[in-house]
Amino acid sequence: MAGMPGSDRSGNDKYTLEDASADSMLKLIIFGPPSAGKGTQAQRLSKEYGLPQVSTGDLLREAVAKKTPLGVKIKSYLDTGRLGPDDLIVQLIKERVSKPDCAKGYLLDGFPRTMGQATELDKMTDIDLVLNIVVDHESLVERAVGRRICMKCNSVYNVTSNPPKKAGVCDKCGSELIQRDDDKEATVRNRLKVYQEQTAPLIEHFRKKGNIVDIDGSKGIEGVYSQMTAAIEKVRK
Ligand code: AMP
Repeated sequence: MAGMPGSDRSGNDKYTLEDASADSMLKLIIFGPPSAGKGTQAQRLSKEYGLPQVSTGDLLREAVAKKTPLGVKIKSYLDTGRLGPDDLIVQLIKERVSKPDCAKGYLLDGFPRTMGQATELDKMTDIDLVLNIVVDHESLVERAVGRRICMKCNSVYNVTSNPPKKAGVCDKCGSELIQRDDDKEATVRNRLKVYQEQTAPLIEHFRKKGNIVDIDGSKGIEGVYSQMTAAIEKVRK
């Protein structure tokens, strides 16, 4: 399937059924704590395997921005880092994966996040592989808290691992660098606590099903990506 035309994150359908052979169905979950790099990896895998990236976080942010009825209901959850109600999230996923671009598989990013969601997913379909990014939580706090974003051109820096030449100023366009609200330490710690309490127990559930592979999240973007593609190649054989 590698090299097939991809589908973008918004679900716009650039991927047609003719692109896939009958045996190329692939359903993946990218799993792990917040700020572990799920989105970055999912975007790349989505291109490589021609699978739509189905990100609940992106779908919810879009609903909030458009002020849809779901967006209005869910906004306060996103603002505080709490998980939205299972029934709303499951409904959102069901609608998204029933679109034509998901007919030959998809890559779930940020779903499931509770045991209730995992149970509903089990009723819906079989997942081929769960890619579980394992990373030490303190290094995630450091990574998120040190992140600085250019207000103008969206370039991303890190005060320790990738600092700008002049503190607080974008190398590329000279604009001010800011820390996003959801990268503030208290918010990051709260999201990790929510992950630990409600989402991490799903790992055991996947282990029992036998479809999970641990990925060492400390290996950098390239190292993580190559572990993931190696695991995917095994299930595609
Ligand atoms: P993310 O970008 O995946 O970190 O998601 C951002 C926010 O959207 C989360 O902090 C939750 O408030 C909400 N959210 C995303 N996915 C889910 C989910 N599967 N279940 C409940 N809430 C979710």
